[in-house]
Order: sequence, then C-alpha cells, then structure tokens
Amino acid sequence: MTRNLVIIGSGPAGYTAAIYAARAGLAPLLYEGIQPGGQLTTTTEVENYPGFPEGVQGPEMMELFKKQAARFGTEFVEFRNVSKIHTDKRPFVIEDEMGEKVEAHAVIIATGASAKLIGLEKEKELMGFGVSACATCDGAFFKGKEVAIVGGGDTAMEEAIFLTRFAPKVTVIHRREGFRASKIMLERAQKNPKIEWKLWRAVTDIEHDEKKQVNALVLEDTQNGGTERFETQGLFVAIGHKPNTAFLGPEFERNEVGYLTLKGATRTSVEGVFAAGDVHDPNYRQAVTAAGWGCSAALDAQRWLEHEGLA
Ligand code: NAP
Repeated sequence: MTRNLVIIGSGPAGYTAAIYAARAGLAPLLYEGIQPGGQLTTTTEVENYPGFPEGVQGPEMMELFKKQAARFGTEFVEFRNVSKIHTDKRPFVIEDEMGEKVEAHAVIIATGASAKLIGLEKEKELMGFGVSACATCDGAFFKGKEVAIVGGGDTAMEEAIFLTRFAPKVTVIHRREGFRASKIMLERAQKNPKIEWKLWRAVTDIEHDEKKQVNALVLEDTQNGGTERFETQGLFVAIGHKPNTAFLGPEFERNEVGYLTLKGATRTSVEGVFAAGDVHDPNYRQAVTAAGWGCSAALDAQRWLEHEGLA
C-alpha cells in the first residue's frame, strides 16, 4: 500500500501537519521518533502558547496535539527513527532504523533541531528545573533569581539580555575571550549593567538541592586550570542548536550548519518532500511558529498531491 503522506517528527510542526493532512482526508502516517513530542517534552511549563491562559506542561501539550491528530485518523509509528528517505524513484520509500519500509507519494520532514548541551551528567537530569536550553521559554520562571548563561554566540547574548528582564544579575560564562557573537549584540550585552562576565571558564559541575533547584556551578579555568565554586540559581545553556538532518541524503539541500534550505515556503530541493519547523528555521524556534510551519507544509503537500493527481 502506498501512503499519500508520511510525516517525520512529532513536535508541534509534525503533529500540526498531521492534523491538517488528516482533516483533508490524506490519512497520514507519522513517525514519532525516539523522543515523542520533541523538544517540548524536555521543558516544564509552557506559558507562551496561545490558547492556554493558565499555561500548560510541555509534555501534556504534546499529548493534546497527538490526540487531536489521532482524532482525524493519523496513524503513528512510535519510538522509531527514520533512517533514510529513498528518493531515487517514486513513490518515495521511507526506511526506519529497524529496516522496515513504507511507500509514500509525499513526505513532510519535521524532525526539528536539538539544543547542544555541554555534556555534563547533571545537565539532562536538571533540564526543565534549574537548567534550561531556552531562555525565551523558561526565563520568566527565574524572576528575582541570579542566573548564569553559557556561550559566546548571538544566542547567548540575546538570551542574556532577555534574562535581565527577570533576573537581577545574569553572568555570561564563556570558555575563551573572543566571541562568535556579532559586534552589535556583544556591545549591547556589555552595556547592560545587569550582565556580568566570567571568561576563560567552563562549567564542569552543577550543584542543586532535592527539588532540582540549582545552587552553584563548578567552573574550571580554561587557561590556567584550577576550579572555583560559583553561586547561582539557574543555568541557561546557549551553545547552539543542531538540526536533525543527518539521516537525509545529499539531494536535500542544506546550509553550512545543516538546516534545510527551502524553495518557496515549505518545499525542499526534492519535489514532493516538504519541511516544517526548526529543521529549517534557526531564527524563531518557537512551538507556535513550528505549528504554523506544520500547517503550511500540510497545505502545500495537499495541493501538490492534488496537482499531481496522486490524492
Ligand atoms: P554559535 O554562533 O555557534 O555560538 C555557540 C557558542 O557556544 C560559541 O561561543 C561557542 O564557543 C560556545 N560553545 C560551543 N560548544 C560549547 C561547549 N561545549 N561548551 C562551552 N561553550 C561552547 O551559536 P548561536 O549563538 O546559537 O548562533 C547560531 C546562529 O544563529 C548564528 O549564525 C547566529 O548569528 C544566529 N543568531 C542570530 C541572532 C540574531 O541576529 N538576533 C540571534 C541568535 C542567533 P567558541 O566560540 O569557543 O566555539
């Protein structure tokens, strides 16, 4: 059996694409991947998604998205990553990591991006509590608290400035003296009186209480060795994101850091394959923008299938 549409990814982009495609009668099959719900399942409360005036827990919100997609007939492949899209002939063949294959006329890639982490054992354990990889998402939970942010790029500068809305003191911790951040962003951060700097430092450990609230960081001097204890109440990691595109072949055009580059709103370089969400959007990276991309990709896929006489 050849499917009309396969959707790869289960964040806001993938589930929204599924809701639209299923309501259009395309009976999509959605691969959830090994982290069902995507990045939102690593956060706690979401306060900026419209329609939830009291806020909603990230994992709960993704369950609601899934239920809504299921209600209109989306089928799911759970806990399995796609390892390859065979594009050499039509219909496409989507192969998963167990070697099982599905044929589809159209595909939407909504595999998102993953925040890069420092690699500390406690980092993952404390994520969504005292540690966050998204200041826009979690900054407001640190009102009145002193926080630290790791990174020396534009994201770190932007997020440090954003965090000063809530935190009386934000310390930027960077492993060297030079910055990747653009001059303008760096200067803006340097001029902010609430921002302090710890350069030539790497975070090597995180101290926390039983409620997973952060008390202090252990910092290593990257020039001279030696460690110090640095008291802070929250750690933001802003060392970049990595789009989840490694499973795609070279026929899928990407920029120098791996984000899919698109023709028009959602078309990839392979006709019949569309993209939605953080996998092509390093700028906004919000649940609501990803959901918007999911809607657009589903409509584009639907129109393309109709145009080709395939559905
Ligand atoms: P980025 O430019 O790659 O910077 C990552 C930073 O994290 C670097 O300072 C890097 O240090 C540091 N880092 C990487 N791995 C680390 C580790 N394991 N431990 C400690 N530090 C580590 O990433 P980004 O800031 O997310 O920016 C990505 C792109 O988005 C850039 O092109 C940026 O200009 C753009 N962006 C633009 C805006 C804006 O214009 N408003 C806002 C955000 C992002 P080293 O320098 O030592 O390698």
